Amino acid sequence: MTALKFTVLGTRGSVPVEGKNFSRYGGATSCYKVSAGKEEIYLDAGSGIVSALPARDTNITILLTHMHLDHLVGLPFFIALTEKDRPIDIYSNKRSGLMPKEAIDRLISNPFWPCKIENYPAKVSFHLLPEKFFIGDVEIDTLEGSHPEGSTIYKLTRQGKSLVYATDFEHNPAACESLAAFSKGCDLLLYDAQYTAEEYERYRGYGHSIPQEGIKVADAAGVKKLVFVHHAPLRNDEELAKLESTFGVSFAKVGDEFLL
Ligand SMILES: [Zn+2]
Ligand SMILES: [Zn+2]
Repeated sequence: MTALKFTVLGTRGSVPVEGKNFSRYGGATSCYKVSAGKEEIYLDAGSGIVSALPARDTNITILLTHMHLDHLVGLPFFIALTEKDRPIDIYSNKRSGLMPKEAIDRLISNPFWPCKIENYPAKVSFHLLPEKFFIGDVEIDTLEGSHPEGSTIYKLTRQGKSLVYATDFEHNPAACESLAAFSKGCDLLLYDAQYTAEEYERYRGYGHSIPQEGIKVADAAGVKKLVFVHHAPLRNDEELAKLESTFGVSFAKVGDEFLL
């Protein structure tokens, strides 16, 4: 029996892209769906959430890593927001001193958008992220990662299976050690590998990592499967396929499903 079903809805970093050179890995920004019994848990609300079609009888939760645009830009278009009185729970840490609702209100309000989130038919509730809690029978653990203004790393565990979502994470010895301890023995680790090692020299401090560091963390933690996420916006299908064969690790593709 499947404890956690993980689906990639969008895995592009920074900004959505489109065109024939991006069709295989996909151009939509960060959004992943985890299905677990009656629970439908979305990790981030980038433009990938626009293609989500939640089932009628599930509980919808959105876990936000942070408030950068690429992780939020799909939220105003999430179809479940248009369902009358549909409960939607959104969790986030405070960012730049703002509570989750205050931060969302800055984006979803005039002049950027013609209405606020409470004007949608759904019933949206915002929650400040506890360090550890349950959504149904899914245990959620959190760890702050290294990223400008922070980014939450999530671990979801159910029936002895677990996955860790570590996007918008920049490696440094202390952060990698914490992430390895947090990911110890997990079944699936999603790791930010936006840059190549050569590019990284130019983008140090931007808050993203490289494949080599992800492999080190996965080895140290003994994770069963490592998948790279948050692909650079202009990295085309051919280049991503080449990186996959160089490192022997998958780069997430829109539509990928992992059954744990
Ligand atoms: Zn991002
Ligand atoms: Zn970010």
